[in-house]
Amino acid sequence: MADNLSKVRARIAAATTRSGRVADAVQLLAVSKTKPVTMIRHAYAAGQRAFGENYVQEGVEKAAALADLDIEWHFIGPLQSNKTRVVAESFAWVHGVEREKIARRLSEQRPSHLPPINICLQVNISGESSKAGVAPDALAALAKAVSGLPAIRLRGLMAIPAPTTDPAAQRQPFARLRELLLQLQNQHPDLDTLSMGMSADLEAAISEGATIVRIGTDIFGARDTQ
Ligand SMILES: *Cc1c(COP(=O)(O)O)cnc(C)c1O
Repeated sequence: MADNLSKVRARIAAATTRSGRVADAVQLLAVSKTKPVTMIRHAYAAGQRAFGENYVQEGVEKAAALADLDIEWHFIGPLQSNKTRVVAESFAWVHGVEREKIARRLSEQRPSHLPPINICLQVNISGESSKAGVAPDALAALAKAVSGLPAIRLRGLMAIPAPTTDPAAQRQPFARLRELLLQLQNQHPDLDTLSMGMSADLEAAISEGATIVRIGTDIFGARDTQ
């Protein structure tokens, strides 16, 4: 597993250099959903600090079991409004916010001893093929509403494009997400995050400006379940 981790780091470094970007431009988020805490401890021992979880209960249990480690937890799954409280209490980041209501609850429920919670807005860039995310033409209004919330720090955008193995086709939706971030930066100059790229398309995402890639399979191995 430490070997997988160094291979992924090398792929990220190579893609970053090829794109003419600075060496530390891309952060690796290790997606540990469905994987046991022992594997997270191994990855941590190999220097990994940011981990992503998709399921609220599983993520909260792992955060509690690994409270002795200095992990930065990212919630990357679909989030229902009745689950926002524990996420606000246990996670540093939420990728994939697509409704103002979710952001408002996260802000209200963020414990006051913690810094504001970092969030990315999920955009539906592949149209019909993916139902999750805000439509591009509704993005500006959502960003405006969310950026005013006191315990939220709006960081940028996230997307999960429809899978394809063709590298040119992989780049297209990532380029679109980058354009949307550039437009939003006119109103929100502090936005600095493009959360895009997974095991199969991290190179395409990095060449289009990803700042966080979310990698599960190529670090921890295939999952039995989603
Ligand atoms: C599972 C998941 C990942 C990791 O995908 P891999 O293909 O295993 O690298 C990344 N992002 C999200 C939102 C996920 O649900």
